[in-house]
Amino acid sequence: MFSRDSYDVVVIGAGPGGCAAASICARGGASVLHLERSSEPSFKIGESLMPETYWTMEKMGALDLVREAGFVEKYSVQFYAKSGKASAPFYFDSLNDHESSQTWQVHRADFDELLFENGRRYGAECHRGVNVREVLFEDERAAGIRATSQDGEELEVRSKAIIDASGQGSVLARKFRLERESYGFDHASIFTHFEGAFRDEGRDEGATLILQTDDGSSWFWYIPLARDVVSVGVVGSVDSLIRSRDAMPHETFFDEVERCPEIKRRIRGARQCRPVSVIKDFSYSGHRVAGDGWVLVGDAFGFIDPVYSSGVFLALKSGEMAATAVLEGLAQDDLGEARLSAFQPVLKRGMESVLGLVQSFYAEDFSFGGFLREYPHHQRDVTRILIGDVFEAEFIELFSDMESYKQQLLQRRAFGDGDGAPEATVTTLG
Ligand SMILES: Cc1cc2nc3c(=O)[nH]c(=O)nc-3n(C[C@H](O)[C@H](O)[C@H](O)COP(=O)(O)OP(=O)(O)OC[C@H]3O[C@@H](n4cnc5c(N)ncnc54)[C@H](O)[C@@H]3O)c2cc1C
Repeated sequence: MFSRDSYDVVVIGAGPGGCAAASICARGGASVLHLERSSEPSFKIGESLMPETYWTMEKMGALDLVREAGFVEKYSVQFYAKSGKASAPFYFDSLNDHESSQTWQVHRADFDELLFENGRRYGAECHRGVNVREVLFEDERAAGIRATSQDGEELEVRSKAIIDASGQGSVLARKFRLERESYGFDHASIFTHFEGAFRDEGRDEGATLILQTDDGSSWFWYIPLARDVVSVGVVGSVDSLIRSRDAMPHETFFDEVERCPEIKRRIRGARQCRPVSVIKDFSYSGHRVAGDGWVLVGDAFGFIDPVYSSGVFLALKSGEMAATAVLEGLAQDDLGEARLSAFQPVLKRGMESVLGLVQSFYAEDFSFGGFLREYPHHQRDVTRILIGDVFEAEFIELFSDMESYKQQLLQRRAFGDGDGAPEATVTTLG
C-alpha cells in the first residue's frame, strides 16, 4: 500500500494540525507519509476560524485552495448579553487592515479534505482508511508505526520522526498515559445544523455570534456556513446540561433555545438538518509536547475551550511549529526531545493568553465592555488575543488589570453594590 519502506516523517491524523505539519514538511523537502483513519471526509465540529490561521495556511501554500473553496467569509464576532442586548460587531480589520484580518467559517469535512489534498500536491503521500494502532520504538526513540488498513491489511513502516496529530484520543498520549491537566471548566456541548436559518446581510453574514442564555449559565454559538447551513451549539457545565436533567440531548438543546430568544428568532422556520451531537470534558492541556523522534500537535497536546474559536488555529500553529522543528532536526540529524520540544514554551505561552481570556469570559459578573470602560488602553491587547496574535507578547499588564477588575467585581457583589443582576458573564467588546 505504501510506496516506500521508510520515510522522513509519518503524520498521524488529517485534521488541521496534521495537515499543516504534512504540508510544511513536504514543502521543506522531507518525504512524508500522511495517514488518516476515516475512509471518507466526515462531519467534525470546529467550524469557525481565527484570523491568524492565515499565516500558517500561507506557509502550507494552501491559501489559494481555501480562497476558492466557497467558504463563508468571516469578518467579525458579535456578543449577546443574557439580557438579549448585542454588542457592536467586533471587526477584525480594526486592528490591521490586511487580507489576514478576514477569515472563514468552514464545513470541516470540506476544509480538512482540502488541506489533506494540499499536502498531496506538495508531495506528501496521503492515505485514508488507515488506522495507526501503535508507534514503534527502538531504544526509547520513535522509529515507525504499525497500522491496519480498512481491508484489514497489517501495515508497518519506518520513519525518522512521528508527528501525532490524532486529536483528543492521541495515539501517543494514550501509549505514554501522558498526564493532562484539566482546566477545570467541566463543560459539555450539544450542537446541530439548521438549513434556512436567519442570516445577516453583507459582511455581517459570516459573523460568529456568541449569545448568552437568559441566566448566563450557558451560551450558544451561531456560525453561518456555506450551502445555507448554520451551525448552532450550546455550551454549559456538564452538571447543568447533562447530569441534572432527565432529558434526551435534543430536548435539552431545544429547552436551552427557549432560554435564548435571539437564537429562537434566528432558527424559527429553519429545518434541522443534522441530529444533535453531544461532547463533554473537552478542555485539557498536555505537559509534554515531544520526545525522542516524536511530537504532538493540536488537540493531541491540548484544547482550551470553543468560545473564541481557537482550536483549529492552535492545531494549525502547533502543526507549523512541529514541522519546523522536524525539518531543522532532519537537517541537523538530531531528532532528540530537546530539539523537538524547543517550541513548547512559546506554544504554552500563546495558549495561556487565550486561556486567560477564556477564564475571564466565565468569571462571574465579568464583561469585556465593563472592563474596557475602566481600562480602555487594553482594547488593542484584547483584540490581539481574539484574532490569535498570541505568540509574540505576554500580556502581563492586561491580565494583571483583569485580575484587579475581577476583585473589584467580587467586592461590589459582596457589598451589594449594583442591582445584583449585572450584565454579568457577558462578553461585550464594544
Ligand atoms: C464543542 C466544540 C466546539 C468547537 N468549535 C470550534 C470552533 O468554532 N473553531 C475552532 O477553531 N475550533 C473549535 N473547536 C476545536 C476544534 O474542533 C479542534 O481543536 C480541532 O479540530 C483540532 O484539530 P486537530 O487537527 O488537532 O485534531 P482533529 O481535527 O480532531 O483531527 C484528528 C484526526 O486524526 C484522525 N485520527 C485519530 N486517530 C487516528 C489513528 N489512530 N490513525 C489515523 N488517524 C487518526 C481523526 O480521524 C481525525 O481526522 C471546538 C471544539 C469543541 C469541543
